[in-house]
Amino acid sequence: MSRYLGLIVKATRLCNLRCSYCHDWRSGPNQTMGFPVLAHLTARALGDPEHGAVEFIWHGGEPAVLPRAFYERAVYLQARLRRPGQLIRNSLQTNGTRIDAEWARFFRDFDFRVSVSLDGPPAVHDRYRRYANGRPSFDDVRRGIDTLRANEVPVSVLMVIDEGAIELGPDPIFDFFLSEGITNYGLLAAKPTNRPDAAPGTPTEHYVTVAQMTRFLTAYFDRWLAHGDPEIHVREFDGLLSRLASRPSTVCTLAGHCLGRYYLVEPTGEVAHCDLFIGDPAYTVGNVLSGSFASFRDGPALTALRSAEDRAQVGMSGCPEYVTCNGWCPHERYTAFRHDPAFTGECCGLRDLIAHMRRRLAETGAAESGAGLPAGPAPRGQFVDMTSI
Ligand code: SF4
Ligand code: SF4
Repeated sequence: MSRYLGLIVKATRLCNLRCSYCHDWRSGPNQTMGFPVLAHLTARALGDPEHGAVEFIWHGGEPAVLPRAFYERAVYLQARLRRPGQLIRNSLQTNGTRIDAEWARFFRDFDFRVSVSLDGPPAVHDRYRRYANGRPSFDDVRRGIDTLRANEVPVSVLMVIDEGAIELGPDPIFDFFLSEGITNYGLLAAKPTNRPDAAPGTPTEHYVTVAQMTRFLTAYFDRWLAHGDPEIHVREFDGLLSRLASRPSTVCTLAGHCLGRYYLVEPTGEVAHCDLFIGDPAYTVGNVLSGSFASFRDGPALTALRSAEDRAQVGMSGCPEYVTCNGWCPHERYTAFRHDPAFTGECCGLRDLIAHMRRRLAETGAAESGAGLPAGPAPRGQFVDMTSI
């Protein structure tokens, strides 16, 4: 019983925001997971003898538009169905606007890891993250974060890097997080809508290319390094620092072999690989109402995806940094193949960033001596953070 299982559970696809780059929100009926799907999901995930550590990553839409009773039922089911020795973790990704003291106390009491979506300073955040009526959301999100902190819930933040953040550049964003006292955050490139049949090089919207993102992260890393506070954790650097120190990755993108470890579960019970391939039926592997995780793992959809992934890995294996990145995220290649004219398939795109980090760490002596900087965060046991969110 050793396998980690990461489940991005779309508890509801309803949402009170209408973020401009979002592929996740839906309106109308049947957008919320009912008890039969929740019960089947929990029983199948925890009942599989291979699953030693199971993470439920509650996601939406906005998961906090549901009543807390939904999550109380979820943790009750987990307690009833957990196998001896099995580890369970609950995480929740929220837009933060509906977080009040009751929610915060619930998260604290049930040991939920909470990540809040905040796209940096108001000028950037409010450009993308607005309510359905157009009202900006920054002030409400900040209030939600304050409420979590006031109730001693550790908070991390997820920032989507779209063109507004690229235009602003790393320094004001680093300074913003510093001024807000936010020391644990991820920087996620905006993703375009999946178009499975798009020809290579097709232009698209809301696409921050790997080259744009690595340029941004390279400058961000230099700023982080110059600041010199090891208590500031940027998820993307934590993962790379772990790999550069030859430790297991703390994030899915650098761990390799993500197929069969991370699934998206829809309110209907439909199961797909990850949550990044929405709109491409090739990534749907079954439904928890009718199939087991063993049948998803060994079924035709994942078998075909694994074969394609193996071929892609061979194409990248000549890259000198392959040993560090493990081929990086399959969805980055999926998007680059269709929309990035510079994509060759010989490198995942992280080579320059990894080489830069290695060089800078050597120059500062941090790699050898520690020099006040960590060589990546402490290992997290069997849990590997999912970075699609
Ligand atoms: S809060 Fe999340 S689900 Fe809602 S519109 Fe924004 S990105 Fe989409
Ligand atoms: S984010 Fe990328 S590496 Fe992580 S599970 Fe999804 S496809 Fe795999």
